[in-house]
Amino acid sequence: MGSKKYVDFDKVITTYKTFGHLNLPNILEAFNEIPAADVRPVVRGKWEDCTEYNGEYRCPICKEFEGHKRNFCPNCGADMRGTNE
Ligand SMILES: [Zn+2]
Repeated sequence: MGSKKYVDFDKVITTYKTFGHLNLPNILEAFNEIPAADVRPVVRGKWEDCTEYNGEYRCPICKEFEGHKRNFCPNCGADMRGTNE
C-alpha cells in the first residue's frame, strides 16, 4: 500500500464544489486536508461446498463453517459475491 491515501469520493466532490475550478491552488490544498478514509483491502473468496461433509459451506479465507452461502463471511468479512466468473 505504501504511501497511498484513500479518501471518500463524496468529500472530494464537496470540496471541489466549495472552491470551484478557478481556485486550483486552494482546492489542491483542501484535497490534501481531506482525512484518509477507513478502507480495508477487499478479500474475496468463494464458499467451499462441504454440504456432503457436514451440511455446511466453508470460508476459504478463515476456514469457518457457515450454514448458508452468504454474500459476506460473517466471521472474517470476505466478499463471497463472486467476481466475473
Ligand atoms: Zn471467513
